[in-house]
Amino acid sequence: MIELKHVSKSYTAGVDALKDINLTINDGEIFGIIGQSGAGKSTLIRCINMLERPTSGEVIINGKDMTKLSTSELRAERRHIGMIFQHFNLLSSRTVYENIAFPLELYGTPKEEQKKKITDILELVGLTEYKDKYPSQLSGGQKQRVGIARAIVSDPDILLSDEATSALDPETVKSILNLLKDINRKLHITIIMITHQMEVIKSIADRVAIIEHGHIIEQSSVLDLFTSP
Ligand code: ADP
Ligand code: ADP
Repeated sequence: MIELKHVSKSYTAGVDALKDINLTINDGEIFGIIGQSGAGKSTLIRCINMLERPTSGEVIINGKDMTKLSTSELRAERRHIGMIFQHFNLLSSRTVYENIAFPLELYGTPKEEQKKKITDILELVGLTEYKDKYPSQLSGGQKQRVGIARAIVSDPDILLSDEATSALDPETVKSILNLLKDINRKLHITIIMITHQMEVIKSIADRVAIIEHGHIIEQSSVLDLFTSP
């Protein structure tokens, strides 16, 4: 479970990116966070994986308050969190296989174990045939599949998605959302997606929070949000 309690973040005096955010995200959920540009979505997601420290408040993941951990403890906790991005953030000088291997290299996973994990993940994301290609040889959708593979190869409990479908055409968006749904169900990974695209929330999220000027103005199940009274 992920709980945010009274989380606020000010970058400098006067720039209050988040104001008293309270959120509970359950294990196994697909949770959407939607809002306009500048609303505070990226700041919120960066506070969940502690790339930013909140100015005040608590970020509790599986019972531990992330804001109380030292830098080295945080590094260990981050292994349980994968992240995917709008522009994929792949290493252009490395192959698909090597990009996926990157986090495993960092964690010192033995080569044989790496190979097994990467082979399984390549299969899951449908890129077995592309393992020796470079990012420049792939379509946008394929690049995001590599991004997803790299994010989940170290068996995280949580996957954070920062506008991961925003740079893709509608058909590709559908296939990436199907893959994320698959990962959520098969691997029991909790997914938190930030987006400005309501269709994305509508098609895969269980619950959604709407953020505006650093405040959560509404939180509800997606079913309730789209069912008129
Ligand atoms: P969103 O992801 O919804 O577009 P952000 O979280 O990026 O919103 O930004 C929220 C607010 O915080 C904006 O006013 C933005 O200008 C400001 N902001 C974001 N990052 C920084 C930063 N590193 N330094 C100063 N202000 C920032
Ligand atoms: P062995 O099977 O003899 O242990 P390797 O592990 O070096 O040999 O490589 C054989 C297979 O392992 C490759 O066909 C591929 O599936 C995978 N592999 C290992 N490292 C890489 C890499 N850097 N790029 C692509 N595939 C790799």
